Amino acid sequence: MPDELDMTEIIAWLRESDPARLGLLWRRADDTRRARVGDEVHLRGLLEISNHCARECGYCGIRASNRGLPRYRMTADEIVAGARRIAGYGYGSVVMQAGEDPGLRREWVAGVIRRVRAETPLAVTLSLGERPDADYAAWRQAGADRYLLRFETSDPALFARIHPPLGTRPFDRVDALRRMRAMGYEIGSGIMVGLPGQTYESLAEDLELFRALDLDMIGLGPYLPHPDTPLGGGSLPVAPPGTQVPNDELMTCKCLALARLLCPAANIPSTTALSALGAASRTHGLSRGANVVMPNVTPERYRRLYEIYPAKATVDESADAFHARVGEILRALGRIPARGPGGRQQRGA
Ligand code: SAH
Repeated sequence: MPDELDMTEIIAWLRESDPARLGLLWRRADDTRRARVGDEVHLRGLLEISNHCARECGYCGIRASNRGLPRYRMTADEIVAGARRIAGYGYGSVVMQAGEDPGLRREWVAGVIRRVRAETPLAVTLSLGERPDADYAAWRQAGADRYLLRFETSDPALFARIHPPLGTRPFDRVDALRRMRAMGYEIGSGIMVGLPGQTYESLAEDLELFRALDLDMIGLGPYLPHPDTPLGGGSLPVAPPGTQVPNDELMTCKCLALARLLCPAANIPSTTALSALGAASRTHGLSRGANVVMPNVTPERYRRLYEIYPAKATVDESADAFHARVGEILRALGRIPARGPGGRQQRGA
């Protein structure tokens, strides 16, 4: 059963600053993680397959109007080669992520998924933004197992400010996730922590929505300002003093720990955005609720162009170099690199 935390308790934990009390939260999250998903850490190889984007998300460095940015789209052969490399490392799944790129045609993507499924043992996770249902269905049929689509914030007014008018509403993403689950996908969603204007109450609602959706995967990281974006340039006011959520490591770890308590069986990565806050942050994530790491396997010449936020932690470290030390990192924490695709453990167990 999920932890019986209510809204008042969630908000109290988000506002907690006493290190001894926080130690209890970390312990509770780590105990729940161990009891429900074990000591294995699933490694998902990330391929950032295109940085073309039709959207104008106010926080994101690859937004359409960021014209200074050279655009790329990986070829099918490059993606399949990346997937083979991921399989060669022994990781269990590939995550294909991109901007919302209409140039990624339905049939073309389906063909790539079929090839990856035929040529590797990997599970396939997609993170290609909002698409017509026919695309999700075709990709599921081609062999995709999971879809990641963060709702970013459950606060409709804040969502409207960060996703300027392209006819989207926050619950479009939530509705799409529900339909994808009905198609047989495992579904993942998540948020950014510390968006300008995000309050403790709205963050607690986000966490409550994780529980209501019974998410299979939860991705969350700190909001990291990108100077070439409206939000990074300070276009949005922060919430009044005492109510604005900070975008720091501590707050992100509190959210990770609470996500583990609210969705005990979910697969939860210690995200790249969290690692961007400091060398110890990834390990903090893993010892405060996370059970997944997503090594970036995007070819380096593309990786630096997939700049959703500045100085992504993994930009300068090759996939080989990270692979060479990830086992060590996990073993130092008493954890074990997992084998196999690493789908969700039994629901409701
Ligand atoms: N186009 C896809 C993938 C977006 S990138 C989609 O829309 O779902 C994946 C995630 O990176 C986003 O969902 C967002 O939560 C996060 N992200 C984007 N810009 C960011 C920033 N400046 N700081 C922190 N996280 C960011």
